[in-house]
Amino acid sequence: MDTSPRSEQKNHLLDTIRNYHERTALMEPSPEQWHQWMDEVHAYTESFIQKTDTGNAYQQRITDPLHHTPWSFHLEDEGTLLSEVLRELEQDVDQPGINPASGGHLGYIPGGGVLPAALGDLLAAVTNRYAGIAFANPGAVALEHFLIDWMATLFDMPSTTGGNLTSGGSIANLIAITTARDARQVRPSDYERLVIYGSARMHHCLHKALRIAGLGYSLLREVDLDERQRIRPDHLRDLITTDRAEGRIPFMIIGSAGTTDTGSIDPLDDLADIAAREQLWFHIDAAYGGFFYMVPELRPALSGIHRADSLVIDPHKGLFLPYGTGAVLVRDIQQLFASQYYQANYMQDANQANLGWSPADLSPELTKHFRGLRMYLALKLFGTRVFSDALAEKAALCQYFHLAVQDLGFAVGPTPQLSVTHFRWAPPGQDHNRINQRIMERIHADGRVFLSSTTIDGQVWIRLAVLSFRTKLRHIEATLDLLREIVEDLPENE
Ligand SMILES: *Cc1c(COP(=O)(O)O)cnc(C)c1O
Repeated sequence: MDTSPRSEQKNHLLDTIRNYHERTALMEPSPEQWHQWMDEVHAYTESFIQKTDTGNAYQQRITDPLHHTPWSFHLEDEGTLLSEVLRELEQDVDQPGINPASGGHLGYIPGGGVLPAALGDLLAAVTNRYAGIAFANPGAVALEHFLIDWMATLFDMPSTTGGNLTSGGSIANLIAITTARDARQVRPSDYERLVIYGSARMHHCLHKALRIAGLGYSLLREVDLDERQRIRPDHLRDLITTDRAEGRIPFMIIGSAGTTDTGSIDPLDDLADIAAREQLWFHIDAAYGGFFYMVPELRPALSGIHRADSLVIDPHKGLFLPYGTGAVLVRDIQQLFASQYYQANYMQDANQANLGWSPADLSPELTKHFRGLRMYLALKLFGTRVFSDALAEKAALCQYFHLAVQDLGFAVGPTPQLSVTHFRWAPPGQDHNRINQRIMERIHADGRVFLSSTTIDGQVWIRLAVLSFRTKLRHIEATLDLLREIVEDLPENE
């Protein structure tokens, strides 16, 4: 028998390994266990969807001040039954707050979450394909590029276009801004003379992106807006001329294709003309509005979208996917690559394979969720036509509401271009901001539907945004009924 120290050490390790082998066996559940979990999750989702259909869109979290119940989340050394976790999930996560899966979610920009996407997430999690680098999984990467190309074609962008599936619109905007910065070879010494032109209505994530990209010290000019909250091209031209004359460096125009606040679409063709003439980078944030381009009747409103140097769209908004999928498209993929790639020594095998673009070289992410699969499954199982039909339906529901709410006596903003509209109770001689805040509180306390408000030029407006695939006429009628009840109940002189 070998009694050398090394052999003893080996035997000791073998004992340890056998011991841990047993103890870790539960990490690969038996087929029966897996089946049971899937059944329980299936039952939970069925019941969730059914309750979503009949239940509230919003529930304020009620905490009894006497018997204050803290969140139940905790961990133990030993595992728990799935049924217990699902109970906890239902009580603490899926009940309080906004239910984004509800058709009654008409606030902010509603989400949704079409079910095939959940199947895609499940498959992506089980197979865990690596969608960051072509060498690791050429198929997963090719699938994501296919979806990027599909979107580039959808938006009539040229074949030089490339992009990335991101976690959402904020990161997509950040990638676009850093790409613009690098493509134009902005140097630190230029930062304070650099000018970015946008709108007071552009999304706040663009302000964040500019700051994160180091452009917080640059000048962000808010171009004057017209009566529909759209950038005025004549004012933009004047600003650029003045900035050049005074020695500043005009750099980028940011247009919005559907602002979050009012759903306004900047005059994209005019902005593209100016950007071309002045040789500025033209970025379009179409996170909310982009996919309405699929609807033939709405396409003219978005005319010029294909002329962006960089374009952001959010499949978790306009394609009704669950949260976690945004996209950035860049007209010249080389510029995206030059801004985002990195070559590390330990990646040399991957780089040598020469299999084409890798998402890891087109975004800050390396290891990432295979998010293309959820989008692909939704588009495959449903086909693409239903998405444009659903978007047309949402726009029509919003327009219907815009007309009907006036019959109740509400003042309204302009006719909605897409699926966001705003309205307020404004009888003569009252404090309108206070009264509309009160109406907002009543809507939230009721909870059947969820709306949100905004302030435009000092005035409080209530917004209605239709973008959940589950929103149907009955949710719009329920909203109108609720508003009728609330205003009938208002004291005469607030
Ligand atoms: C939602 C939205 C964003 C931010 O996107 P996220 O997916 O929430 O990160 C940016 N711009 C507009 C116009 C949006 O509606």
